[in-house]
Amino acid sequence: MRKYCNQCGREVETRIISKQEKYEVCGETFDVDAQVLVCMDCGGELFCEELDNDTLLKAYNEYRKNHKLLLPDEIKKIREQYGLSQRGFAKLLNWGDKTIHRYENGSIQDKAHNSLLLFLREPENMKKYLSDNEIMLDERQKNKLLDTINSIEKNFGKSKADKVAKMFFSDVPSIQNGYKVFDYEKLCAVVLFFANKSEELLKVKLLKLINYTDMIYYKENGVSITGGSYLHMQYGPVLQNYDIIFGMMTADNIMHIDIVFDNGYEKHKVVSDHEFPKGVLTKAEIDVLERIYNKFSDFGSAEISNYSHNEKGYSSTKHGEIIPYSYAKEIQLD
Ligand SMILES: [Zn+2]
Repeated sequence: MRKYCNQCGREVETRIISKQEKYEVCGETFDVDAQVLVCMDCGGELFCEELDNDTLLKAYNEYRKNHKLLLPDEIKKIREQYGLSQRGFAKLLNWGDKTIHRYENGSIQDKAHNSLLLFLREPENMKKYLSDNEIMLDERQKNKLLDTINSIEKNFGKSKADKVAKMFFSDVPSIQNGYKVFDYEKLCAVVLFFANKSEELLKVKLLKLINYTDMIYYKENGVSITGGSYLHMQYGPVLQNYDIIFGMMTADNIMHIDIVFDNGYEKHKVVSDHEFPKGVLTKAEIDVLERIYNKFSDFGSAEISNYSHNEKGYSSTKHGEIIPYSYAKEIQLD
């Protein structure tokens, strides 16, 4: 780029060099890797507004890092995840009209503003903010925002479950998972079906009920409901990774396990924290659940364990092995 050089007194060829410069932001000095324009002839520095602004932004970002402040892009992301305009976001926060605009364009934010933005980054907190404060948004804007928050939360739960599923379960349908990829949402529905219907449900029994549900559905339809795999364990077939899955369900407020002591024995009671979700399971799937529930309603944990020991799939496999769905055809529930 040709530019006028004051020292040379004429238009000259220029180039950009990097050098360390000291910049002051809010009374603090920072070393910044600056890009500056110099004259090719005398080497003197030439003024260039664009490069100067870049350097200033770098210095601002150093300041932000030092004070743990959000970067302009991060502020923008927080606003955009809620589908708000700069003006709408400022209104919601009861800040000046232009405040968000200035922050997103590089002005350093007030510390208290920064804390509020950080807080509101979590959809859960945004919900709390909306219910705890008098909001300047009208009813329509407020409802739209609530819808957005709900869909973020839903997607987040989904992606979290998907991630866990990818980590612990095969994403290839096979005879080991009933030709279905693990489906956390359906498994939650199956667990809630039994937990909400039963007066008292112990973990051992629940695991058997889930196993029978998948096996019988597979026997009749050629595919499982939950995509779970079942291991041959001491007390009968057990859903693989059930401890991780039940932990997820506890975190998601689906259910939890209470441990109580009864005559010196530990009892693991399944406690529902959620109603049975509508629209997750098909009518045919619910029909199988009803049949399994009725068949075993009078069975205690020990009885159902013993009962499952007689299944071909169990007797034909060794401890710790996966019981393939191919044995499902042998199960008779009369
Ligand atoms: Zn020059």
